[in-house]
Formats: sequence, structure tokens, C-alpha cells
Amino acid sequence: MNYRHAFHAGNFADCMKHALLVWLVRALQRKDTPIAVLDTHAGIGMYDLESSHAARTGEWKRGIARLTENPPEVLEDYVAIATAKPSQYPGSPEIVRTLLRPQDRLVCSELHPEDFGTLKRRYARDRQITVYMRDAWKAMTALLPFPERRGLILIDPPFEEPDEFEQLQRALCAGHKRFATGVFAAWYPIKHRTPVRMFHEAMQASGIHDIVAAELWLRTPIDPTKLNGCGLLVINPPYGFEEAASNLLAALSPRLGEGDYGEGHALIRLVEER
Ligand code: SAM
Repeated sequence: MNYRHAFHAGNFADCMKHALLVWLVRALQRKDTPIAVLDTHAGIGMYDLESSHAARTGEWKRGIARLTENPPEVLEDYVAIATAKPSQYPGSPEIVRTLLRPQDRLVCSELHPEDFGTLKRRYARDRQITVYMRDAWKAMTALLPFPERRGLILIDPPFEEPDEFEQLQRALCAGHKRFATGVFAAWYPIKHRTPVRMFHEAMQASGIHDIVAAELWLRTPIDPTKLNGCGLLVINPPYGFEEAASNLLAALSPRLGEGDYGEGHALIRLVEER
């Protein structure tokens, strides 16, 4: 477990994932009934943008820092949450925490012992949040379905292992089998197109209905050693997701892209609703 999100917090991938996350949670909250959110790869919840880790890569300067000045209306909600504390960037648990209503709850799993400890301490007195040091892939079956019967599962793996797309696909199928009405949102990297295409094809062959993928890329993905873009695959997207995600991506793309006309975005319907 070498991956530490502190090096990457607030980068373009966080901006894309978290802007969509805010929209998804708010969409689930259109009804008053409680929701639960499972954040399978939670990280530490809050990141110091002035830390040596953040300074080493400076990724946030090409991410959230590019969105703060006069954000377009569609990004205002996310940017307000992401910039609420000066020089700090909220991770997914903190973003969800900001959105939780009294009737909602958040469950986090984080396997890195130090990051787990940081996250556990952060929410030690928060009765709406449970933090487990638990393997994400096992959590996806053990903790589903939610008793609330409504909710979101955010899956945000580090993609350090060569078989992580296959692992992700297996976990999505296993999780969906236990909680067919849940909204599943899985982040994935776009380095080279081939593994992404294979992942999409595997999900199309999975028998699961109603799947879309939102993608954002910074440049044409010709160098597979670089993180050229990223995607969020969503199963059971709430009503209006495709239009809202397209608008969010269209606002993010020119601000985060490299400006060489290779940047772009797409909203792909992989499987129709039943
Ligand atoms: N979701 C976080 C956010 O948006 O702020 C960032 C998560 S980061 C990309 C991935 C996290 O997953 C790391 O903190 C890493 O320690 C953790 N991790 C890696 N493998 C895991 C596993 N099998 N189970 C749970 N956590 C894992």
C-alpha cells in the first residue's frame, strides 16, 4: 500500500470525481427519506495544500486552484464546498459529511493503517459516521445492502495493482447483486484507452442495467504512462444525471485541460435502463 492521496488531493481527478459526487448526493436527497453513503476507499478526509506532500507534486495547482476564480454557476456548489477552509482540500468523506442531513449516515473503509487512524480520529465524535479499517472489496459485500434501502457507494481505488479494473468489475457485480437499487459510482483512470474499453465491455456484458460513464481527459491519451484523464462509471444514475454530468464536464474541461485542443469529455451510456 504505497499510495498516499495527500500527494494528489485537489488534482483534476479529484475535481471531476467530487463535482459529480456532490451532484449525486444532492440528487439522492431530493426525497426526505434517509440515505447512506459507503466510501470504500476513503483516504483521510481533509488535506493540507501547504504540506510537503502537496508541494512535492503541486497537482492541486492544476486542479482546484483553476476553478476558484469566478466559477461558472454549474460548479458553484462543488467549489464552495471544496474551498470552505483556506489552504485545505476536503476528501470524499468530508464532502459527504458537509452534505449529510440529520437522517443520513456515512460509512468509510480505509485500509492504510496511518490513514485509517487519521480518519477514525477525525470523526470519532460524529455519530453519523462510521470508519472501518476494512478491505474495500470485502466491505462492498459485507456492508450492503443498506438498511435505509437508498444510498450511494463511492468506489475510488488507487489503481496500483495491474488487475484493478478486473477487481473493480468483480466488486461492482458482487455489490450490485446484494443491493440492486443502490447507486454505484466507480472512479477509474484513463491512461491508455484499451483497459478502459475492456472495462466498459465487461460491464456491458455483466447483465447489470442502467450504466453510464462520465469521462474527462486533459490531452489525447497517446502516452500510456501518464494519467491522461479519468472516468466515473455510475450504475443506477439518479434522474437527470446525464444532462447534469455533461454540463459539469463541459465546465471542467476547458479549465483543467492542457489547452492543446486534446482535452475533452464524454457522457457514454453503456447499458440502457431495463
Ligand atoms: N476517496 C478519497 C477522496 O476522494 O478523497 C481518495 C481515496 S484514494 C484515491 C484511495 C485510498 O484507498 C487510499 O487512501 C488508500 O490507502 C486506500 N486503499 C487502497 N486499497 C484499499 C483497500 N483494498 N481497501 C480500502 N482502502 C484501500
